[in-house]
Amino acid sequence: CGIVGIIGQGGATETLVQGLKKLEYRGYDSAGIFIHNTETDYLIKSVGRIAHLEEKLAPEIDGTMGIGHTRWATHGKPTEENAHPHQSSDGRFVLVHNGVIENYQELKQLLSKGVLGEDCTDTQIVVELISQLVAQHQLDAKEGLRQVLTLIKGSYAFALVDKKNPEAIYLAKNKSPLLIGVGEDFHGCCSDAMAMIEKTNQFVEIKDGEIVVLTKSSYQIESLAGEKVERAPYTAELDS
Ligand code: GLU
Repeated sequence: CGIVGIIGQGGATETLVQGLKKLEYRGYDSAGIFIHNTETDYLIKSVGRIAHLEEKLAPEIDGTMGIGHTRWATHGKPTEENAHPHQSSDGRFVLVHNGVIENYQELKQLLSKGVLGEDCTDTQIVVELISQLVAQHQLDAKEGLRQVLTLIKGSYAFALVDKKNPEAIYLAKNKSPLLIGVGEDFHGCCSDAMAMIEKTNQFVEIKDGEIVVLTKSSYQIESLAGEKVERAPYTAELDS
């Protein structure tokens, strides 16, 4: 189970795949990536090794933004459908998640009946809930995420994409690891600095209960209550 994401730099597919390979040691049963470019976007998933995922990647599947995930199934069978990234049923939001949502059954009750099947993941419930709250209350993605975070019990590292605003990736964590990677012309996120060390050695810690908005040129951290947090990067020294 690992997460990697990038925004602002071309070659996003390669960055994600190389990053996921570095996260292989964390263990996984399936993997997937979401890639966005100005023309279109792609959601590619596969059961088994990252090499299986790579077999599905044609050269045109590339872009300047994306999120990737290796899954260690806790809720829902380790199938291709249940691999992350998960998309909301309206197609607007895409989410990767490491961790376990403990009150997923309670959260599922909040969803419109029948949108999700029996064998869904806890993560699918979260992305569906975000899209439903955003639609009901006309929220933006950050507010939708914030509201859902107040409802969730459990552990998570989340990276969320709103296809209506592909200039940003939204992050949050509780008890699962997640870092911001800072590059000259991009920002990224990863469960472990290993996954990005070939692209940058500048990382910013995210604390439990914070929400982060990543863009090509900035990272904005705030508390769940909406107060801005200033935090400078540190230099990671790893043998890559
Ligand atoms: N609980 C989620 C699932 O089963 C995420 C598991 C993970 O951390 O990989 O899909």
